[in-house]
Amino acid sequence: MKKKLLLITTGGTIASKNTGNGLAPSVSPEDILGSMTDLIGFCTIDCMELLRLDSTNMQPEHWLLMAKTIKEHYHDYDGFVITHGTDTMAYTSSALSYLIQNPDKPIVLTGSQKPLMDEVTDAKKNLLDSIRFACEDGVRGVFLVFSGSAIVGTRARKTRSKSYYAFSSINYPEVASIDGGRVLRYVVPEPSMAPLKFYDKMVPEVFLLKLIPGMDPGVLDYVADHYKAVVIETYGVGGLPFPEHRNFMDRMQTLANKGCIVVISTQVAMEGSDLATYEVGHEAMERYDLLQAYDMTTEAAVTKLMWLLGLDLPREEFKKAFYTPIAFDTVPFSILK
Ligand code: ASP
Repeated sequence: MKKKLLLITTGGTIASKNTGNGLAPSVSPEDILGSMTDLIGFCTIDCMELLRLDSTNMQPEHWLLMAKTIKEHYHDYDGFVITHGTDTMAYTSSALSYLIQNPDKPIVLTGSQKPLMDEVTDAKKNLLDSIRFACEDGVRGVFLVFSGSAIVGTRARKTRSKSYYAFSSINYPEVASIDGGRVLRYVVPEPSMAPLKFYDKMVPEVFLLKLIPGMDPGVLDYVADHYKAVVIETYGVGGLPFPEHRNFMDRMQTLANKGCIVVISTQVAMEGSDLATYEVGHEAMERYDLLQAYDMTTEAAVTKLMWLLGLDLPREEFKKAFYTPIAFDTVPFSILK
């Protein structure tokens, strides 16, 4: 029997046209599908326009809306394809991985670097590949499909701003390649036996701070006053600067005093953090109650914090939950130690 998918459109370049003031989303889902009808006869697709946004404008409230929409239609379809702008797609794929846990169906995000209606475009291939991947038997979970590769939702990152090969899988293998209607699955992630669960809360008061040499540690006072959690992207495997006149190490006390959750991660794209390696990291661990992102992407760490803050957990449980792998976002903590 033909699989039945729901195509949910949210905007992005794939649905954009030139307005005279730059590209803006304006193509309807019917037109998106209409341009491909001869290619997608192998399944049945319904479509709905949920949002019409440049994904620069994507917000946590929109992630909740996407999760709610999938929840409402979950039992009517074999899978879901979401078209989305590329700029924040990795945040959305991570967020949906926390909001929709243990799905037994595929939820596939895709988009393009060039509009679907352009003569030369990657949009058709990406959309067709996503539909193919979503029609594969046994694909379950949130994925991002782009330029012929399927990436686990929590491991995706936009690493190129212009070329077609725009996304990379960080610290985890690409799970499939899709070409000419053939899906080659390299990695079949072990499905979770836990029941499907939808969540409906995210707390957006999470800050991301990228350290640069010369930064005034006073920024931490502002973060402590306005945010419940912060991911600090430090250098290399991780550490906090403590030169005399710009001492982050001491000033971290301001975050501790306010009970702000701190996750140390790295600015380096690949291989993750390991704070215990150098004195600059070791001392931070000795002095403060810190979490580490280890192999998690920044996108996953930030959205996992937003989701966890919504659960209102006591601190120790929060820490345990942060290190508990969800949707392959990290390897188990016992392996990391
Ligand atoms: N600015 C666009 C967006 O993220 C870029 C794209 O879709 O490629 O919506």
